[in-house]
Parts: sequence; C-alpha cells; structure tokens
Amino acid sequence: MSEPVERPTIFERIAAREIPARIVAETDRVIAFHDIAPKAPVHVIVTPKSGDYRDVAALAAGDPGLLAEVVEVARGVASELGDGDYRLVFNTGPGGGQTVFHVHAHVLAGGLEEASLAGA
Ligand code: AMP
Repeated sequence: MSEPVERPTIFERIAAREIPARIVAETDRVIAFHDIAPKAPVHVIVTPKSGDYRDVAALAAGDPGLLAEVVEVARGVASELGDGDYRLVFNTGPGGGQTVFHVHAHVLAGGLEEASLAGA
C-alpha cells in the first residue's frame, strides 16, 4: 500500500522557503539542506524541488536525469562538507524507514561507524 502524499510536501515547502532550513546547495531542480535530526556529523537531505516522485524507484523510472542530478548534488555536498567519501541512502517505503514520501537522498559522512542505517 502506498502512503497518500499530501501536497505541498514538507520538502516542497522548504524549497519554496515557507519552512526554514539550513540550505547548503541548490540547482534549478534540486535542493540540499541539513537534516533536522542528524544521524552523522554530516547529514544532508538532497531532494528534487518537486514532490512529483515519492521514492527513488519512481524517480528512476520517471526522470532518470533528475536522479542523476540528485546524485551529482550529493557528491558535491559530500566533498564540500566532508572529505569526499560518503554514504548515500534512499529509504524506500515505511518498512524501509521512509517517513517523507517525496523522494530524497540522505548524504551521510564523517564518523559513519557510529551512524545507524535504520532511521538514517
Ligand atoms: P526518511 O525517514 O528517509 O523519509 O527521511 C526524512 C528525513 O527528513 C528525516 O531524517 C528527518 O529528520 C528529516 N526532516 C523532516 N523534517 C525536516 C525539516 N523540516 N528540515 C530538515 N529535515 C527534516
């Protein structure tokens, strides 16, 4: 069962500057900001500004170029805020730990031996 998606999503509202966030990178279609509950020394959310895709599989099927842009922004954030090595996590579905049904990547870097995958 798919969770219903309320629009605008919380991440669309961050992209529209309706909700404050610590934004670290932005392109025309993608935005990156610090996670409000960090699980690693660097924990940044990278997401399309539009909430049209609920998860990474839907994004890959519907707009692979946009997924590539998310990955490229994630790489840039990891090299700016960390040493360039990072973990990229797409929680998918409630059983996979997804709580916001607007596709997003978690960029985790620094001290990863202490970062749990669950709830990343
Ligand atoms: P997930 O559980 O994979 O759907 O990830 C959602 C993430 O969004 C969680 O790590 C939350 O801490 C984060 N989050 C929720 N609301 C905000 C917000 N207003 N600003 C920044 N991060 C948020």
